[in-house]
Amino acid sequence: MYRPTSGLDSPRFVGIRTFMRLPHVTDVSRCDAFVVGVPFDTGATFRVGARFAPEAIRSISVMLRPYHPHHRFDICERISVVDAGDLTVLPGFTEESLERVTAQLVTMLEQSNGGVPIVLGGDHTVVLPELRAQAAYRKQPVAVVHFDSHPDTWDEYWGERYTHGTMYRRAVEEGLIDTAHSIQVGLHGTLYDEDDWSQSRTLGFDTLTLRESLELGIPATVERIRERVGDAPVYLSLDIDVLDPAYAPGTGTPEVGGYTTIQMQDLLRGLGGLNYVGFDLVEVLPQYDGPGQITSLLAANLCWEFLALVALRKG
Ligand code: MN
Ligand code: MN
Repeated sequence: MYRPTSGLDSPRFVGIRTFMRLPHVTDVSRCDAFVVGVPFDTGATFRVGARFAPEAIRSISVMLRPYHPHHRFDICERISVVDAGDLTVLPGFTEESLERVTAQLVTMLEQSNGGVPIVLGGDHTVVLPELRAQAAYRKQPVAVVHFDSHPDTWDEYWGERYTHGTMYRRAVEEGLIDTAHSIQVGLHGTLYDEDDWSQSRTLGFDTLTLRESLELGIPATVERIRERVGDAPVYLSLDIDVLDPAYAPGTGTPEVGGYTTIQMQDLLRGLGGLNYVGFDLVEVLPQYDGPGQITSLLAANLCWEFLALVALRKG
């Protein structure tokens, strides 16, 4: 079992920064889950800089402690977790980067015998190689729970088909997603036109806009997600811009009127027991973050909720 260095053994500012002070181990064969950075941001259409997110999230993640007060267990007593470092990418070369990331993730999935990756993005394009790797490893498409202010199902940007706004359409075209068990949650913000959200439903996703979610309430939103997914193998992808910029200013395409931190925590805490195969936290841009590293701090805590969800399924 791998587990983090406790803040009771040495102060949390001591040591090389890994996620949650976990051991940095690149051989993931004895892991139930592994944290891995994919510092790729060539797919971004507005601000860039998510290549520095894994570093920033790791830096503040030393604040995390292993005991979960809501679930009431020590996450790291239930699951063996490491920080596997970052995958290598080619800045400026999207399709080649996606192929390399896919290959590296497939190797890690095989080595860990289906261990659960917790991916620190990167811009949201990185979900495409994650889903390619999952589908290749499992030889079946996976369901997706996608929290985002944007649907990311546009066809192209300026003729470019591989971007952080188009990769879910590519993933559906490639047969990587079990859309009948997939849902996009938290859609909000200004649109190009009426089709921006309905295009996801045309592709087969269920959708829940942020307004619909708030009108239902968080518990009913959780129930809607759980019913949609059932026991399908599921990938949870969280674009930090689904949160209000008051809580997550350091992001690539901010949209006002998002979830609060507590609403997001409640959503994730309600989603225990699903058959998770992977997670990502994308679109953190540290150079646009506020004083106190609030976006990275939030991102680190949401990744910690992901680890708790892996531990819940194991427990
Ligand atoms: Mn996105
Ligand atoms: Mn987004």
